[in-house]
Amino acid sequence: MPERIVQLQGRLFLNFTLTAKTGLHIGGSPNNVAIGHLDHHVLRNPLNDQPYIPGSSLRGKMRSQLEKQLGVPQNQRIGQIFIHTCQTWRDYRACKVCRTFGLPGEREFSEVSRLIVRDAFLTKASADQLKELPTELPFTEIKGEAMIDRVNSATVPRQQERVPAGAIFAGELTFSLYKYDQRDQDQQELELFSAVLEALNLVEEDYLGGQGSRGSGQVVFSALTLRMRMNKAYNNLQDVREAATLNEMQEEWQKILADLVK
Ligand SMILES: [Zn+2]
Repeated sequence: MPERIVQLQGRLFLNFTLTAKTGLHIGGSPNNVAIGHLDHHVLRNPLNDQPYIPGSSLRGKMRSQLEKQLGVPQNQRIGQIFIHTCQTWRDYRACKVCRTFGLPGEREFSEVSRLIVRDAFLTKASADQLKELPTELPFTEIKGEAMIDRVNSATVPRQQERVPAGAIFAGELTFSLYKYDQRDQDQQELELFSAVLEALNLVEEDYLGGQGSRGSGQVVFSALTLRMRMNKAYNNLQDVREAATLNEMQEEWQKILADLVK
């Protein structure tokens, strides 16, 4: 292990809108299934009663999608789920997942997480629109489903609260470029941000929240703005890049990378 000197090289700030293409359910424990009434409430901000997307939900989904895409072992149990964490320094050095999302603190070679995902709140326009909906609960819809009782094959009704399709949230993530080992190339840090964009792309293809296999939780990221605050070496960069879609931002990022490594 080299001497630990942590140098902050710069930060990337990505703002985006997250649009629910289908009803979105992010909420209480899925274990609390009761029958015949509203089983699953969505998570709400207690200050204004509006549903929101916790950063941890989006971040967790980004991580698990990237783990699967890269085919890394999901070898550590956190509560009810398994995630991947590298066991050795050598593996860690080459691992996009752990270097982006972090490792448990007890590892000798742990570094701080580079990626911070903020909670995403409804845009004002979207909240105003949802408020006008003639639904039982503010800002949401109730989706009824028929479940089959696996013991006696009877059909039992089940209800779930969802944020309706079309709801728009404002999201933000921050990516810090750290240098722990002075032998590292700056480029390696920057390339990790490509993995962040790829992870968002994978979430678009998959789903967010619960009941994804039954159609809930399809989301799309758009109206992306990337701001950068870099140390002196990067002063030639433009501060702001904008893109209408995630794919456009990925292309834009590849150009930024190419400029940097010239
Ligand atoms: Zn790893």
